[in-house]
Amino acid sequence: MKQINAIESQVRSYCRAYPVMFDKAKGPFLIDKDGKKYYDFLCGAGSLNYGHNNPILKKEIIDYLNEDGITHSLDLATKSKEEFLDSFSKIILAPRNLNYKVQFTGPTGTNAVEAALKIARKVTGRTNIISFTNGFHGVTLGSVAATGNSHHRGGAGTSLNDVTFMPYDGYMGKKTNTIDYLRRVLEDNSSGVDLPAAVILETVQGEGGINIASDKWLKSLQDLCHEFGILIIIDDIQVGCGRTGTFFSFENAGLEPDMVVLSKSLSGFGLPFSLLLLKPNLDKWKPGEHNGTFRGNNMAFLTAKTAIDYFWTTQELEAGIALKSNILKDRLENIAKEYISSEVEVRGKGMVYGIDCILEDLAGAIKQKCFENGLILETCGSDDQVVKLLPALTITENELQEGLDLLEKSVKQVMNQSDFQKKLENEIVEK
Ligand SMILES: *Cc1c(COP(=O)(O)O)cnc(C)c1O
Repeated sequence: MKQINAIESQVRSYCRAYPVMFDKAKGPFLIDKDGKKYYDFLCGAGSLNYGHNNPILKKEIIDYLNEDGITHSLDLATKSKEEFLDSFSKIILAPRNLNYKVQFTGPTGTNAVEAALKIARKVTGRTNIISFTNGFHGVTLGSVAATGNSHHRGGAGTSLNDVTFMPYDGYMGKKTNTIDYLRRVLEDNSSGVDLPAAVILETVQGEGGINIASDKWLKSLQDLCHEFGILIIIDDIQVGCGRTGTFFSFENAGLEPDMVVLSKSLSGFGLPFSLLLLKPNLDKWKPGEHNGTFRGNNMAFLTAKTAIDYFWTTQELEAGIALKSNILKDRLENIAKEYISSEVEVRGKGMVYGIDCILEDLAGAIKQKCFENGLILETCGSDDQVVKLLPALTITENELQEGLDLLEKSVKQVMNQSDFQKKLENEIVEK
């Protein structure tokens, strides 16, 4: 850890919360250099939906390299790219009646978001983008302009323009339909909000606090966008690839977004890989106009294809997610009610869940205690007040229960050892 502490930039963040040297990883576990095993409910912020070092994917990579398969190829035509596109279109797009062109961007999620915003502006000739409160879309300038979090915005060092924020579903309380407000703003020539090129949103806000847009809200947003000729971009970087129970998070809402951004778990193996899906009529790029050296991550093509072939051609994964979703919901609601407070909300869908602890200190203390007890998880939300769980979709029921046992033990310890009970009561009364 000497060099990491001495010369790695101050910008490092996750490693501050878990100050041990990690060495190995397998399935749902991270293992430190002393051999201590941690249940990993952070999963690379949702990049490891199929667990660490999934043996099926690992074998493909090893064989590929042994045969001198290409690793880097700019955007040249390669066999692994062709095969990925073949599986993706036949297994993911076609059965869902989705018709998209596939654009490989630079390997980060934020680069694919940048591509979506660029093409939306280029095609419509409009500059404004509507994003939503608590939305997170990455930290390069275009994406961070569409990100609500002031900590990330503050790092930009320049003005962040051409994005208008609107209230997400539930932002004004359960009784207010925020689409009504958006409609009013769009209809009123003097609202001060320019007609946007696009709206961009997550269907479940992963960094923003596990806020969930209802299917109904999403559908009426899409209807409104169609009415006004606004493009709709779904950022499925964190909650796509099965996290909410279906490959795309918007399938059950019956959406047909103009663009979809995928990254994090797309490669299935934790390899950097992003893409933008766009309706064919939007594909107005000139060759190389949105460029990038690493748009041909062939090992990621290979593992992504293998993951699709293996996990998305049977019902097994989806059935498992549904089952484990119920376990998560039941146990988290019990933990919240029994040890924290009945006022504390548990939110989630599929296998992304959060406990809104109301107090940032409390969520932080739970995260710290979990780490001591061998469970890694993160906090999220506008004040980091939500304890977030993103276990591997492939985790066994037993392992999930064991990880949740550690959470329960940690919550109990935190609530017993501190005066959070009193602080919480005061906070709830004030509300
Ligand atoms: C992680 C994330 C991004 C940014 O992806 P990077 O690879 O970190 O650039 C964008 N949108 C959402 C919803 C994310 O969770």
